[in-house]
Amino acid sequence: MVRMDDCLFCRIARREIPAKIVYEDDSSLAFEDIQPQSPVHLLVIPRRHLVSLREMKPEDESEIGHLFAVAAGLARERALENNGYRAVVNSGTWGGQTVFHLHVHLLGGRVFHWPPG
Ligand code: AMP
Ligand code: ZN
Repeated sequence: MVRMDDCLFCRIARREIPAKIVYEDDSSLAFEDIQPQSPVHLLVIPRRHLVSLREMKPEDESEIGHLFAVAAGLARERALENNGYRAVVNSGTWGGQTVFHLHVHLLGGRVFHWPPG
């Protein structure tokens, strides 16, 4: 179990590790993915250490919903709306999650296929 002290994204939120932060508010922040998979690839995270959707509690609903509102706002700001974009949460190992601090990937600027690989 990763402690909040050691969690990479908690450390980014506390500005202990540098990241290109593009948005922040009281409960969330967004920064550029270090290994972008598309021309726009941002990560939107809660400031609070939430692990994944699996651990989601009823009281986390508005906080997690807010992450999608932030992602949609950033997509609008970056003119991704017309062509479309993808906002995804990888959950657990088989879901492709590698950092266990919940995050929404905002991907845009190219065509994405379905189903994903
Ligand atoms: P996931 O695999 O869904 O858990 O996504 C984790 C994402 O975090 C990956 O897309 C990584 O490229 C990204 N990542 C890992 N370390 C950093 C970092 N220091 N700064 C920004 N993004 C990172
Ligand atoms: Zn964390």
